[in-house]
Amino acid sequence: MFIEPRVGNGRGLPRRGWIEVIVGSMFSGKTEELIRRLNRAKIARQHVEIFKPGLDTRYHAEDVVSHNANSIRSTPVTFPNEMLLPASSCDVVGIDEAQFFDDSLVDVCNQLADHGVRVIVAGLDMDYLGKPFGPMPALLAVAEYVTKVHAVCVRCGDIASYSFRKIASAEQVLLGETDSYEARCRHCFLEGQHGKSEAQAAAAAVAHLKH
Ligand SMILES: [Zn+2]
Repeated sequence: MFIEPRVGNGRGLPRRGWIEVIVGSMFSGKTEELIRRLNRAKIARQHVEIFKPGLDTRYHAEDVVSHNANSIRSTPVTFPNEMLLPASSCDVVGIDEAQFFDDSLVDVCNQLADHGVRVIVAGLDMDYLGKPFGPMPALLAVAEYVTKVHAVCVRCGDIASYSFRKIASAEQVLLGETDSYEARCRHCFLEGQHGKSEAQAAAAAVAHLKH
């Protein structure tokens, strides 16, 4: 569990900001960890705001909702710079599903932290192909604190860090489709990917024979 080295700045001292990043695959508990940190700040009467990309409308337009239904109200934004004004007066800013934002998110997080805001960012580190996702790699580089959380592989029970897509689609963003994914370890992820390409080759061969 992540224990903050410092959470306040002492009474009367200038605020000091920093960036925390929480990454992992689907079903790894990223959002739960984000909510845990934000709730504790709220209990301490710190001013907390939460943002998420406008396109993530899986459950509620206005809530960061984790899969265990602990939720905190949040504001959907389309572009990262929309956060600057409302976030500038906050002690703590949470950003969920950060992988869906563009690269300007890195600058926005840096600006907020430079101005004394504690910024906590949660997102998928890899897409369904196992490739780094959107602005996440750059955020990991500039963050003071990085937490990688893991799921459990549904096939073998090992530690899982991949989000395996069970259906055929080449889109990077598939929203509201958690049923279409499962958490897998490296070994089972690779096996699944090989199985998919073999199935595709077989389907192509069948289509070729029909013509
Ligand atoms: Zn496995």
